Amino acid sequence: MKVTVQIVIDAQDGTPPAVEQVAAIARDDLTMASAGLALAEAHKVLSGIQHHLLTAQAADAAVAGRDCASCGRPRGRKDTRHIVLRTLFGTLRLESPRYKACPCAAGGPSTVSPLAALLPERTTPELLLQEAKYAALTSYGAAATLLGESFPLGRALQPTAVRQHVEHTATRLENELGEERFSFIDTCPAEWEELPRPDLPLVVTLDGGYVHSSRQTSRKDGWFEAVTGTSTPTGGGPAKTFAWVQTYDEKPKRRLYELLRSQGLQDNQQVVFLTDGGEDVRDIPRYLNPQAEHYIDWFHITMRLTVLRQMTRSLPARPARYDDDDDAPWIPDPGQADRDLERAKHFLWHGNTFHAMDVARR
Ligand SMILES: [Zn+2]
Repeated sequence: MKVTVQIVIDAQDGTPPAVEQVAAIARDDLTMASAGLALAEAHKVLSGIQHHLLTAQAADAAVAGRDCASCGRPRGRKDTRHIVLRTLFGTLRLESPRYKACPCAAGGPSTVSPLAALLPERTTPELLLQEAKYAALTSYGAAATLLGESFPLGRALQPTAVRQHVEHTATRLENELGEERFSFIDTCPAEWEELPRPDLPLVVTLDGGYVHSSRQTSRKDGWFEAVTGTSTPTGGGPAKTFAWVQTYDEKPKRRLYELLRSQGLQDNQQVVFLTDGGEDVRDIPRYLNPQAEHYIDWFHITMRLTVLRQMTRSLPARPARYDDDDDAPWIPDPGQADRDLERAKHFLWHGNTFHAMDVARR
């Protein structure tokens, strides 16, 4: 059996549609290995479609850009240059005609390149996005290799190119971020009444951790604090994750605020912050939202209780001679202390802080 993949490009200008062959796939017997498309064939189909589609688009744009925008007369062709465009589905060398400037446009540049004006960058945003996504998960080198294996890039992707692209994208995002502020609350309760009914609360978890260098020489040097977290809309919708380096980031509040905004947060919407209870981490969400509630998360509550329970093990045993002596000094009983902490944990889990505190005070 032979399967031919063709595409039909219809300019919709009265001319007959052009049929282009993209790939031919031959198959004999059906086996596990020959079932359906192989990766190499899929790459061929995708890059074939990309080649014909983009070439047709570029030719279209070049024709459309030939006429002078002011007087409508066609410009004379000077020469043809080439534009190399890197996409997820191939690297294309597109013809980019240069036209002589129209006589009506005196004083301007002497030539006009419509395609170069439309495609000012050499890499498509979609490829840049994938490079950033892969590089966020692995090294630049592995990202370049994996992208090359997954997509018909048409040209080997160098690790340094991935690094430069990711840095460029990061700088662009950074420059788009607004200024840092002490407070992001600039509306009052009366104004919140005017806002549409908000969605269900957003639940934001924040957790900080210290990263130390293996060659740390002093307490002050060779470490940084990273804060990571997630933001989950309780009404459904995808959760978002974020991270920043506390000692390095100049706009941590703005960063978190924009993330919450991107999930549709409005000023009268409730936000529940679950943090590890650390001082620095607790400070971030302060003044971020007027409807915020702050909690220490269960993991960090149990962590503190576990530490306390371990400490009870090093307590000395209560001497038996004190058993019937009402005037004997109070000495905590290790077994009892451990049981009390377990009870406090049980009460906390069920939201019964009154009884938990009662047990803790003994
Ligand atoms: Zn003109």
